[in-house]
Amino acid sequence: MRFTVVLVALQGTLLLACGGEGVGGSTESSRDDLPDILLVSLDTLRADRLSCYGHERETSPRIDEIAESGVRFDEVHAPSSNTKPSHMSLFTGFDPLAHDVRPVKLKAVIRPALSASIPTLPELLREAGYRTASFTDRGGLPPSAGFGRGFDHQRAEWEELDKKVAAVSRYLRTVDTDRPFFLFFHTYETHAPYLPPEPFRGEYTDPDYDGEFLTRYTELAGTPMSEFWREKGRFLRTWPEMTDADVRFASDLYDEEVAWTDRQVGRLWDIFRRERGEDALFVLFSDHGEAFFEHERLGHQRNLYAELVRVPLILVGPGLPAGLIVDEPVTLTALLPTLLAHLGLPAVETQEPSFLPLLEGAEVPGAPIYSQVGNRESELHESVIVDGLRCLRTTLDGEVAVELFDWNADAGEEVDLFAERPDDVRRMVALLDGRRAEAERIRALHPPGEEETATGEEEREISALGYTGDDE
Ligand SMILES: [Zn+2]
Repeated sequence: MRFTVVLVALQGTLLLACGGEGVGGSTESSRDDLPDILLVSLDTLRADRLSCYGHERETSPRIDEIAESGVRFDEVHAPSSNTKPSHMSLFTGFDPLAHDVRPVKLKAVIRPALSASIPTLPELLREAGYRTASFTDRGGLPPSAGFGRGFDHQRAEWEELDKKVAAVSRYLRTVDTDRPFFLFFHTYETHAPYLPPEPFRGEYTDPDYDGEFLTRYTELAGTPMSEFWREKGRFLRTWPEMTDADVRFASDLYDEEVAWTDRQVGRLWDIFRRERGEDALFVLFSDHGEAFFEHERLGHQRNLYAELVRVPLILVGPGLPAGLIVDEPVTLTALLPTLLAHLGLPAVETQEPSFLPLLEGAEVPGAPIYSQVGNRESELHESVIVDGLRCLRTTLDGEVAVELFDWNADAGEEVDLFAERPDDVRRMVALLDGRRAEAERIRALHPPGEEETATGEEEREISALGYTGDDE
């Protein structure tokens, strides 16, 4: 063993037995044992807008190139269509209903924080000897909900993406190399409002379009970053006479944002390797996708259709194969146990097993994959996919609606098979019920923390992202 931290989860209490000098005090970990890690979260990036995931546009040459040097997971399901629960599932290995970190709900102030007895990825890495840092956009990942746990250094700023990368570059020069280093980098760049800078602006959009979205873009593009969150409002707000050309413009503008983001991700990875060495581990994902009227909505609110849950996942680094594409479906909820297994760190209690065996060519039977968004009181969306079928259940003010889709034949989820396949519906609903009951047991074992109240500033920032209180 390389360290002496023992984790014991017992009746809701996590006992930490540290053999070194306090948290992170393991004396046997060293740079030789554990790779530096760059974990990149590109908020609201749907997989199919990257060229390596099949987009017809060359939006992502840098990410494509990085993916070719490692492993690209072709079918990745987000745990949620909302920033907070999805990231917390990735950080803990538990479903949204189990960890109970919910979408921001303005004014209602029902906002459980993560249970003190559930460890997070940065905490586990720090206990293993890592120095840890996070660079995030403000708004969706509040430290008070549990996202601050385990970080030695945190920077949460609204800023242009290239400036955030430059800030990372400056910070990296101050980090010594005597310990392994973990950096979590999160950006809302591909979240609305889409404001790609020159020369990306205009690359894909129709130059003749002069509708409402162009007006909104132009007004926001001139807003100083210091005033940005006050001014940007709800960029994707719909209007009654919205046309296909309007939606097309928003969708093309999104692609321009993806292209700009791609170049900055490439730059970030170059800088990280220059400062920390070539043997670093790179992990890129998105917390959820984005809808462009596939199911009568823009953005990513209040459902779990395919355009909101299909996200990218790329792993590159020592001990990982180069050029591998994994076809088997995986969930981001399983990333924590996978990383722990890959790093040789002790496993912790999670709802999903590591998917590391897929990289070793093992035959792994397809297990159900779950996603959830909402709350237990008034509105909950749940989905499960297994054996090529995907079932979505919506519970809204006590009313329940169930849909069933053939994932292989109908990837856009347009033809509801609910009436045609009652036996499959029953089987899938039983899976959803079982997973819901499992979440209840986990919540009883790991009670969420005290409710917190959104501060005025947090409310304004979240509101600026276009969230109205129902969903994020
Ligand atoms: Zn998000």
